[in-house]
Amino acid sequence: MHIQFDNSYARLPDRFYARVDPTPAAAPALVRLNRALAEQLGLDAEELATPQGVALLAGNQVPKGADPIALAYAGHQFGHFVPQLGDGRANLLGEVVGQDGVRRDIQLKGSGPTPFSRRGDGRAALGPVLREYLISEAMAGLGIPTTRALAAVTTGETVWRETRLPGAVLTRVAASHIRVGTFQYLAARGDQDDVRRLADYAIARHYPDAARGPDPYRAFLDQVVARQAALVAQWLLVGFIHGVMNTDNCSVSGETIDYGPCAFMDGYDPATVFSSIDHQGRYAYGNQPRIALWNLTRLAECLLPLLDNNEDAAKQSLQGFAPHFEATYFGGLRRKIGLSGEPEGDDNLTQDLLKLMAADGADFTQTFRRLCDAADSPAADAAVRFRDGAGYDAWARRWRVRLAREVDPGAAMRAVNPAVIARNHVVEAALTAAVERADFGPFETLLDVLSQPYRDDPALEQYARPPRHEERVRQTFCGT
Ligand code: AMP
Ligand code: MG
Repeated sequence: MHIQFDNSYARLPDRFYARVDPTPAAAPALVRLNRALAEQLGLDAEELATPQGVALLAGNQVPKGADPIALAYAGHQFGHFVPQLGDGRANLLGEVVGQDGVRRDIQLKGSGPTPFSRRGDGRAALGPVLREYLISEAMAGLGIPTTRALAAVTTGETVWRETRLPGAVLTRVAASHIRVGTFQYLAARGDQDDVRRLADYAIARHYPDAARGPDPYRAFLDQVVARQAALVAQWLLVGFIHGVMNTDNCSVSGETIDYGPCAFMDGYDPATVFSSIDHQGRYAYGNQPRIALWNLTRLAECLLPLLDNNEDAAKQSLQGFAPHFEATYFGGLRRKIGLSGEPEGDDNLTQDLLKLMAADGADFTQTFRRLCDAADSPAADAAVRFRDGAGYDAWARRWRVRLAREVDPGAAMRAVNPAVIARNHVVEAALTAAVERADFGPFETLLDVLSQPYRDDPALEQYARPPRHEERVRQTFCGT
């Protein structure tokens, strides 16, 4: 199997990673291959599906031209600094430049121990692998920057996580795996030249125009801030909760990365937390912008020596977060209720709607989707109306006055308000079928449904509707 690798990260100093091959799996079997993504990357999907291809996806065979490494990084985990984390169960096989000219990492996750494994086994269980596959592809379907899933294979081995579970490997594709924690790792070792090397590398790879200006490192920080601000705003607009926004799970490319106990919110409540390990609600839905800025502040600290220790420059950069976040978030909210153009007074409308939704615990996704119909005809109001019906009616009157200035707002709204999201109870059901009964049907179907989330299809009602009381999932787990 021929893959044209070009491994620029492996050409950085060897302090940045550990060279380590994946550990072969006992009996690899393909669960799912993302053919469309393979094509985009210029890879031969037919070949990847052959036993030789599957051997590659399981880590049993290192393809020619690959240079497998485990990346070193540090990170603040729930606010506490850990100077060395690193890829404890992943191998970066190498980079490929896709049909679109974009360079991407091809990484195996769950492919065996590395020098960064600490007490971990270097393996991944099938459930979390399929979960990352589903939710990262759901994010891609929604149009939100994210790492992608190229393939999932089972290893034929057992992993122990409180109980016996089938093992699996995810092939992850990312713009890069440079995290805020990667900068923290080098900065904590006290080598400013290495921080500069990594910054130069990240600029060349993700922000090439920053290199052309008078102050590349400032421009780099500005642009990472802007991308993270826009990313978190996009999460909020679809009700996504990352769940573990540690600095090691914060990519400088601006992609969503490391899907653990992440979840989409059903009923609207900014304090929503699903992660079983987030006892304080640090990573609650509504806290995410604040946490992103906290993480970026850690990045700014690492870059301070490159900014001539100019704290004002770093502060100004970080002050760019709020306007970038607000532009994407408030602009997005306005579009969710069909309003375009200048925002005079429109933000009151969106905020008043969110207040009504919060008071009612209204389903976030379904409320906005039903409002699309209400934009077409007031006859659809009945399907939106909250417990506080008078509150909704008063709000809808104001909304319609403003909506009269828009052309076909319902259609515009359907393009930004998904009909289907990866609802917890549906995801759990698909994973349970796969893990407990080796029935991958529900996983496959759900994956297809989530690839076109803005489509109206009455047949998809079981994916679109909120969970019934007894179906509601209250906790999600990392499963590492
Ligand atoms: P995560 O929670 O996936 O972001 O991982 C946090 C850290 O724990 C990273 O350094 C991972 O590489 C490491 N880690 C997680 N699971 C395992 C495992 N099963 N074996 C070894 N290292 C792991
Ligand atoms: Mg991580």
